[in-house]
Amino acid sequence: VFLPHLVASLEVEQTYIMVKPDGVQRGLVGEIISRFEKKGFKLTGLKLFRCPKELAEEHYKELQSKPFFPKLINYITSGPVVCMAWEGVGVVASARKLIGATNPLQAEPGTIRGDLAVQTGRNVVHGSDSPENGKREIGLWFKEGEICEWIPVQEPWVIE
Ligand code: GDP
Ligand code: MG
Repeated sequence: VFLPHLVASLEVEQTYIMVKPDGVQRGLVGEIISRFEKKGFKLTGLKLFRCPKELAEEHYKELQSKPFFPKLINYITSGPVVCMAWEGVGVVASARKLIGATNPLQAEPGTIRGDLAVQTGRNVVHGSDSPENGKREIGLWFKEGEICEWIPVQEPWVIE
């Protein structure tokens, strides 16, 4: 039985995932997208984008007072990023687990950062830290009409 409205009744969340400029330059875009696809989450937004300084500053505004903030803004605006919106039950916390610890040397093997990166300042991927920030960040990085509502054929095989 195929009942897509059942999914809507569960705690569906949105998260903003971004392949940072180092991930794009190192050819890791496909690998990173694959991990979220294989897990069973739904991709609802995707684009390659050169981020203006103002947007990077707004996205990371909570870190404004940190000593590494100027370096961080430089890093994020140093080349194109891949912006993604992912949707699913528990997607925010689960994506953070798939991504791994901020410092890639402390990230567990099997996580994206644990497998693919070595330094905090080159940790290849971003993931929202709460459902509220997921919505906020998707609103920042995507325009209206760039988010696509659809029902994957696999959905009833991922969510009972
Ligand atoms: P995240 O949520 O795991 O990405 O980590 P945070 O929200 O704490 O920090 C945001 C991003 O800022 C990190 O992913 C890093 O790219 C960068 N960052 C955090 N701490 C440091 C640091 O100590 N040095 C440098 N160079 N970058 C940092
Ligand atoms: Mg963070």
